[in-house]
This record gives sequence, structure tokens and C-alpha cells, in this order.
Amino acid sequence: MWREDLLRQLTCNVCSRRYGVYAIALFCPDCGAPNLAVHYRRECDLIEQQITLAREASEAELSFRLLGNAHEDVVTALETYLKTVYRFLVGKLCQVEEAAKLKSAKAIGNAFQNIDRAREKLAKLGIDPFAGLSDDDRDYLRINIEKRHVLGHNLGLADERYAEAVQEAQPGRTVVLLADEVVRFVEIARRLVQYLEAQAFPVIDAA
Ligand SMILES: [Zn+2]
Repeated sequence: MWREDLLRQLTCNVCSRRYGVYAIALFCPDCGAPNLAVHYRRECDLIEQQITLAREASEAELSFRLLGNAHEDVVTALETYLKTVYRFLVGKLCQVEEAAKLKSAKAIGNAFQNIDRAREKLAKLGIDPFAGLSDDDRDYLRINIEKRHVLGHNLGLADERYAEAVQEAQPGRTVVLLADEVVRFVEIARRLVQYLEAQAFPVIDAA
């Protein structure tokens, strides 16, 4: 069934053509310009609206739930964008057999939920979008990805791994999640996607 309600309406920032996509698109269907950042902008809008709802929620528990969902959406979106671009580049730059191997679910696993492993994979294709971020921002990204693991899988209780990543956290303590933190997290992720777009497509042109 054609689900109009799930169609994401975007406007290409190069040719201004309006088009609808499901899930994720890398290019404008009309002029072919990379539209990754345009696409991610819409993702940010939805996340920011969830943060607003969380700030306005009358119940603390509901507010925390909404913030947690918004926070998780940032991690999910980042993983999806990094993985999609990685697969696309591998398909363009590697021989068919090699590409199939690299693109397999087994080879990728959850590498793109981890900054170091994501950088390692992307570096083999000649790009490092994380290099565009300051050390502070990169640390913030790393801490929040760890925080997601704690919030999603450990009932919000800091574990040893999290305590190691975030020096002031103590194992066993409940992890706090503030609206302003999610705002900064989504903003850093937005810039990372911009760097990703700026680096990824020239690599193909140069090949
Ligand atoms: Zn276009």
C-alpha cells in the first residue's frame, strides 16, 4: 500500500525540486545533487519537535520517555546515514566481489554505532567526517552514544564502560538526560552529516 503519511517531503537545495522519499535518499531524483544534509535536516526537525514536547510535558516520566526517544533517534539516524554512505561508496569504489563482502551484514555488524570502528571503516575509503568536529564535540558524541547504550540496555544505570567514557559518572548511578544535551547531540550529528556529504561524493568523482 502507498503510505502517503510516511512519505518525507523534501526540497532539493540545488534545483529546488520538491520530492518525496521513504526512509533515506542520497541524491535529488531530478538534478542528481547529493541531498544527504537536506534529508538529515528533516530528521533534526522531527527530533527537535520531540524535545519541545518533552519540555512541555506535564509529567516527568513522560518527559523523560520523550527525551529518551529523541536521543535514541539521533543515534539511529547517525548509524543509518554513516552505514548507507559506506555501502554506497563501497559499491562504487570496490570490485563486485570485494564490495559484496564488505557490504554484508556480517562485515558491518554494529560498527557504525561506534566512532572508532566507523572511522576505521570510512578511512579505508579515504574519508573521515569525524575529523571536521572539534575534540570536545567528538567526545560529546562518544559520551552520548555510550549513554544510549546505558539508557537502552541497562535501565539507565551507569555501567563500568560508561563510567570509563564519562569520568564523572559512577557505576550503578542513574544516568541523567537533559533536553539541552539532546539539543547539542543532534546539532553535532547534523554537522557530522554535513561533513559526510561534503567528503563522500567527491571521492567517487575522483575515482
Ligand atoms: Zn535537485
